[in-house]
Amino acid sequence: MARVALVTGGMGGLGEAVCFKLAALGYRVVTTYSPGNKKVDSWLASTKDMGYDFKSYECDVADYDSAQACVAKVEKEVGPIDVLVNNAGITRDMTFKKMDKPNWDAVMSTNLDSVFNMTKPVCDGMVERGWGRIINISSVNASKGAFGQTNYSAAKAGMHGFTKALALEVARKGVTVNTISPGYIGTKMVTEIPKEVLETKIIPQIPMARLGKPEEVAGLVAYLASDEAAFVTGANIAINGGQHMS
Ligand code: NDP
Repeated sequence: MARVALVTGGMGGLGEAVCFKLAALGYRVVTTYSPGNKKVDSWLASTKDMGYDFKSYECDVADYDSAQACVAKVEKEVGPIDVLVNNAGITRDMTFKKMDKPNWDAVMSTNLDSVFNMTKPVCDGMVERGWGRIINISSVNASKGAFGQTNYSAAKAGMHGFTKALALEVARKGVTVNTISPGYIGTKMVTEIPKEVLETKIIPQIPMARLGKPEEVAGLVAYLASDEAAFVTGANIAINGGQHMS
């Protein structure tokens, strides 16, 4: 039976590429969409036209109860989750002087609490079955810091600690936990940055002088999800065109 992969935020730029890649490798791919997302039906229809058979479930990853309900429904209707990709995330950039509590909380809950919310209902089953992959999508800005991103950098850095601690706890149970830290990837999150800022401030920081491609991150997710990656755990893998080497 094909393995089940749950990708949060699968309709986003990176998430979609991950869904395509895992589906191409034979996983049964399930994704989530935010409550109120009106594009889910057209996305499912367009991916169906492309030959995919994704299922998508409503889930506010920032909300514990919503995450529990989503996972329960996926496991009942599709099957036990073998691979969890915690990919959903948001930015609310502003300098610390302007940073207010709602924008701090929104980024912390969507990017970091979500990892707890989604992993909690999935992890015990992986341990019982003796196989599982938890892949957390962090950011280069977790280890590098970024102007205007105290909230985002803190949340994404929190993922690293979570990854390492949980990796220790499940290391002997066939479950690996890893973080991927992309640099600037050409998705809506980045292409919405004003062109001038991209060209004068961002691209010049990247030794490869280009944005990364979602497919390049998806390839790394696919590797970490594979049997070949069984000895990789607690890692934080950078994919940033040389922008930050730590
Ligand atoms: P997008 O904005 O394209 O996609 C983000 C996805 O997250 C959307 O599908 C969105 O779903 C989902 N999402 C947001 N909030 C929630 C929520 N509360 N509950 C459920 N889903 C939610 O971003 P990217 O594809 O670019 O980014 C994906 C991940 O990669 C993020 O975690 C981001 O921080 C990280 N990243 C991205 C980089 C980049 O350069 N693009 C660089 C480094 C890290 P919906 O549309 O339904 O709201």
